[in-house]
Amino acid sequence: MKYILVTGGVISGVGKGVIASSFGTILKHCGIHVTSIKIDPYINIDAGTFSPYEHGEVYVLDDGGEVDLDLGNYERFLDVTLHKDNNITTGKIYQSVIEKERRGEYLGKTVQVVPHITDAVQEWVERVANHSVSEDGNKPEVCIIELGGTIGDIEGMPFVEAFRQFQFRVKKENFCCAHVSLIPQPRSTGEPKTKPTQSSVRELRGLGLSPDLIICRSENPIGDTIKDKISNFCHVPPEQVITIHDLSSIYRVPLLMESQGVIPFLSDRLQLNVGIQQPRNFMRKWRDLAERIEHLRKEVVIALVGKYTKLEDSYASVTKALQHASVQVGYKLKLKYIEACNLEKTKLQSDPVIYYEAWQQLCKSDGVVVPGGFGKRGMEGKIKACKWCRTNNTPFLGICLGMQAAVIEFARDVLHLSNANSTEIDNETENPLVIDMPEHNQGQMGGTMRLGKRRTRFSGENSVIKQLYGNKNSVEERHRHRYEINPKYVGDLQAAGMKFVGHDEQSERMEIVELEGHSYYVATQYHPEYLSRPLKPSPPFLGLILASVGKLKSYLSSGCRFSPAQLSDNDFDDDYPVESTNSLKVVSSTKPTNSNVSGSD
Ligand code: GLN
Repeated sequence: MKYILVTGGVISGVGKGVIASSFGTILKHCGIHVTSIKIDPYINIDAGTFSPYEHGEVYVLDDGGEVDLDLGNYERFLDVTLHKDNNITTGKIYQSVIEKERRGEYLGKTVQVVPHITDAVQEWVERVANHSVSEDGNKPEVCIIELGGTIGDIEGMPFVEAFRQFQFRVKKENFCCAHVSLIPQPRSTGEPKTKPTQSSVRELRGLGLSPDLIICRSENPIGDTIKDKISNFCHVPPEQVITIHDLSSIYRVPLLMESQGVIPFLSDRLQLNVGIQQPRNFMRKWRDLAERIEHLRKEVVIALVGKYTKLEDSYASVTKALQHASVQVGYKLKLKYIEACNLEKTKLQSDPVIYYEAWQQLCKSDGVVVPGGFGKRGMEGKIKACKWCRTNNTPFLGICLGMQAAVIEFARDVLHLSNANSTEIDNETENPLVIDMPEHNQGQMGGTMRLGKRRTRFSGENSVIKQLYGNKNSVEERHRHRYEINPKYVGDLQAAGMKFVGHDEQSERMEIVELEGHSYYVATQYHPEYLSRPLKPSPPFLGLILASVGKLKSYLSSGCRFSPAQLSDNDFDDDYPVESTNSLKVVSSTKPTNSNVSGSD
């Protein structure tokens, strides 16, 4: 097993995750099996109880692990399936050491950070690196380890010490360190400054780790003089200084890294045995994707009605899934984040301008997503957004809480159960359309939901969703919820046109709902966003984008087999009109151009 440790210097948020994933992408294209481990030095056991406002979304794995959203980057970039143990936290390491101590396995010794915690880290890394992360069961050959935070953080120290020891444990030819640093370019001088990088490399060296590669992040390209300076002052040859400036899309990052000789360097340093000369069409699909994204001209406007809209990372996977689908259909995604409470009547009284602006944005969108969420705040706004879509034939995708909102809205408006609600919102409601699942453990918050991959069986012959999934009989997707649709109301809902077209294979729980006679009104109890990949968009998202640009019917009637090029031709338009989006002023889903590298993918 070969290990590449990726550390960060100067400040966090410069795109260490994307760079670490890019190492994996490049190596994967060389035919090497790659896995990854993300280390988060916080004390939480996992990300399950995090507020999306602090850390961005909680990413969910097949095995039900609730982990840092960076694992989503790895899964999407490398197209692998990670396990909960691929995310290490200080909490997990201490928990394992303390449990061992309680079992008496330290034989009366004093248990200390060095060697016991540092040993536990090394053993964990060695064990998890060997787990297969692909369907074919192949054993990984290279493990990319991303150490969260920046060098010098107090929480990260035991991990740095663990890797200082680890480099000797696994031998030099099996371990290398890439240090991602920032080269600021202050406006006052306009010159790139290398001092912060010099200090952070010095600090890393002082802790016993020497960087094999220094990856310099900067706003604009930096020239050879600066590269040479970094090489001189940081004591690495110039070819081991890689410069990554802000790029138009994150898919450009692996390409830029590859063009600076990362493959021959790693091949030599880690004795990887990959050819030095790459074939001419090397990373062709990746290059095509980057180019395709840059050449998209037509726009599709999607509104995301949620409650954590102030931090874009809170909906990282949903945003990515929308982007994957838009690119596939040949459209540039314009994503508008709408704060659900701003659609509520109380806002009209307190701040009418914001209220009307939110409604204007919603009404002008080509399609709407109501994503997952928890708690009462914003629920009525989400229900209003569902009603708008249902009654105006606006394409709609509801996810988890979004599905629950759609069902409650339908029950209130069509079945005239005016006080229909979820017991999560109103425990006393007379019409509990959404109820607690029996297995939900109310005593504890962390790890008590219905989590991870489950199989949904499609029912109903011609549902749109079944067609989008390629007419398979069933599909596996990931879950994260405590509440479910109350089966007591299903008969009435179905009779009124709300069809439940997917059920959990074992428990018969409602998994997918679809409205008859609508341009696209689909909601899922599972979270399809987690399995979306840049080159394999998630079907429910693809359906939403196709419907939003008026191409769903033709896509379905052609057996879901258009080529992407055909999809962007106007000849394939469906017969219902699509609003023009040209005059809209919208918030772009991509961070401002030239700052993309620092985001998740
Ligand atoms: N709060 C809802 C539940 O627990 C929905 C969860 C979600 O959207 N992830 O069922």
